[in-house]
Amino acid sequence: MRSENVVHLSSMAGPQVSSIAVCEEHGEYHATTHQVLSRTFRSQCPACKAEHQAKARVEAAERERQELAWKLGDALVPKRFKGKTFETYQANNPGQAKALARCRLYVEQFEQNLEAGRSVIMVGRPGTGKTHLGVSIAQAVMACTAHTAAYRTLPGVLQAIRATFDGSSGQSEGSILDALVRPTLLVLDEVGASKESPSEFELSRLFSIINGRYERMLPTIVISNLDASELPVAMGERSADRLREGGGFVLPFTWESHRGKESA
Ligand SMILES: [Zn+2]
Repeated sequence: MRSENVVHLSSMAGPQVSSIAVCEEHGEYHATTHQVLSRTFRSQCPACKAEHQAKARVEAAERERQELAWKLGDALVPKRFKGKTFETYQANNPGQAKALARCRLYVEQFEQNLEAGRSVIMVGRPGTGKTHLGVSIAQAVMACTAHTAAYRTLPGVLQAIRATFDGSSGQSEGSILDALVRPTLLVLDEVGASKESPSEFELSRLFSIINGRYERMLPTIVISNLDASELPVAMGERSADRLREGGGFVLPFTWESHRGKESA
């Protein structure tokens, strides 16, 4: 060891001097300069520094999104839903207008909702626009923030898990569940879709997803064609409790279906 010969560079630095420096891009800024071993070091333009940091955040988010999409075997929001946004949602009655406004607000206040781990339960008949608004929230979160959001149907998730059982799908159940627990926001559609009572397999996987997200304080949007009173039994009381505990709220879609008016 020759550590006794090492002189820390900072002990050889001269005093810091404040000066006005000029960034080609952003103009003048207050810089500090100091000398180390007869070389002058000037602090970076703060605007350039902020830009670099913002770019690094976007790139990290993009890597995270690509990795999760790969693990989930499809885009985070499957391509066929890309056209479903707040802008293309048609509010044809006061209930729909209110639902749209609440979903937009949920995205606008996403940082607070994330802080609280606040989930949303959308319930109501088929054809009332729940999927459209759920997908819109996921897309808006990804467009407006560096957070990752994914949309999946519960039957699709269960099918993907079953496909791992014979080892031919190249995925493991663990990696599928992990990819559903990790996104900042998960929109889980078609919960309670099976007509007969749910199996222990369905209930336990759903609980793994919802509880895993609850433990990380990450919000989940659950969409179901059942009404609010039927849902706890259909999804399991344990899962329903987890959604309630995060301060989740129920968004009822009580109007008549307008499916058929909407062109595909
Ligand atoms: Zn600059």
